[in-house]
Amino acid sequence: MCGVIGIYSKDKRDISNIMYYGLYALQHRGQESTGIAVNNNGYIDYYKDLGLVHEVFDKERLNRLRGNIGIGHVRYGTSGDDSTINAEPLVVGYKQGALALAYDGSLVNFLELRDKMEDAGVIFQSSIDTEVIANLIARYHKDDIEQAIIKAVKDIKGSYALVTMTNDRLIGVRDPYGIKPLCIGKLGNDYILSSETCAFDTIGAEFIRDVEPGEMVVIIDGEIKSVRTKKAEDKSICLFEIIYFARPDSKLDGKSIYLLRREAGRSLAKECPVEGDIVISAPDSGTVAAIGYAEESGIPYDEGLIKNRYVGRTFIQPTQELREQGVKIKLNVLKENIEGKRVIIVDDSIVRGTTMKRIVEMLKNAGAKEVHVRISAPPVTYPCHLGIDTPRRKNLIAAENTTEAIKKMIGADSLCFLSLEGLLEAAGGKDIYCTGCFSGDYPVEKDNK
Ligand code: SF4
Repeated sequence: MCGVIGIYSKDKRDISNIMYYGLYALQHRGQESTGIAVNNNGYIDYYKDLGLVHEVFDKERLNRLRGNIGIGHVRYGTSGDDSTINAEPLVVGYKQGALALAYDGSLVNFLELRDKMEDAGVIFQSSIDTEVIANLIARYHKDDIEQAIIKAVKDIKGSYALVTMTNDRLIGVRDPYGIKPLCIGKLGNDYILSSETCAFDTIGAEFIRDVEPGEMVVIIDGEIKSVRTKKAEDKSICLFEIIYFARPDSKLDGKSIYLLRREAGRSLAKECPVEGDIVISAPDSGTVAAIGYAEESGIPYDEGLIKNRYVGRTFIQPTQELREQGVKIKLNVLKENIEGKRVIIVDDSIVRGTTMKRIVEMLKNAGAKEVHVRISAPPVTYPCHLGIDTPRRKNLIAAENTTEAIKKMIGADSLCFLSLEGLLEAAGGKDIYCTGCFSGDYPVEKDNK
């Protein structure tokens, strides 16, 4: 999972400062590296490094990046290690000029494509999918960059939201299933492409529409045009975006993430009722569903866990040891609200189970009489090969264990998951989501990656 953004300023203003704040709004989508590339009168300049947006860029560095077209990226890697070489945007020079690419997604035929290219003598510097795409575009680019991208897209399989910049245009491409989000906004005369609409709100831009599955949008000479790259397939938006990844103040394919999560919480209360004194959330990911659960059940919602907001998501920490340390650093119990109470804690998922086990333990240590765990999504039983770093199947607690067994492992008094039907109904559509990690039914099957 990554966050991408692209800006085209028709009025020719420098866009790196706007880009910075847009990337800041997308920081939740990736914390490993940050990068910005700008078009400076036909010359592509860029800076990227490991770290959060504010760690990589200061005022001076931003001011050095001058140009009216730009793309930016925050990375949480699912392919390749987290070295600087894998940071994006990827900027390449080739016979026809220069190209910068920022990519969110995962190619299921990455190894096959890369093997073929290496056999043909192509040398790769990084281990990211993006470099394969860049090579395809460069190979196909004879006279027309748009045709080259269309040809490249025909060769790739998987999920993608791709933002590309040439010396005169900004281009956004979304995969034919719409697995990855990409939307279009406008700030005055300037066009903006972003993974999520929350970036538009942050920079004062107005949401125009989502890029359609299988659509390429090209912004050139200040105007936007739409080109189809592939036939749109049945829409399969990543359901994990809805329940976990996207910010609640974003809209995805026209739907408010906040309202969908609250509805999932309400459905959870109907499917998994339990007597309790207080509903709390595992902050922040479970908060909206917990509010919905409280509304539907009539049991008051209050704070029970206080989060240190300066620690990244535990799910995203790279090792088990760091993940476990992360939980301790990240959360503390508000004893005043918990002691002697029957606590219902709502979260949006249990992936490995380590975080929830620690939370239940903390609540019990703080004097909770009972701890009932409610999850506003079904058990995660299959891994994802489409760009979300859920662990291998053997590390998914629900793949190997029954709900009763998980309840015992995490030390809860009861545990209940929202059904897939219940979640899809709350999310407003049975046929528009990828449900792979809950059902094993993927829009694009795994190849060799
Ligand atoms: S398998 Fe799961 S995480 Fe992966 S794209 Fe589908 S819904 Fe999203």
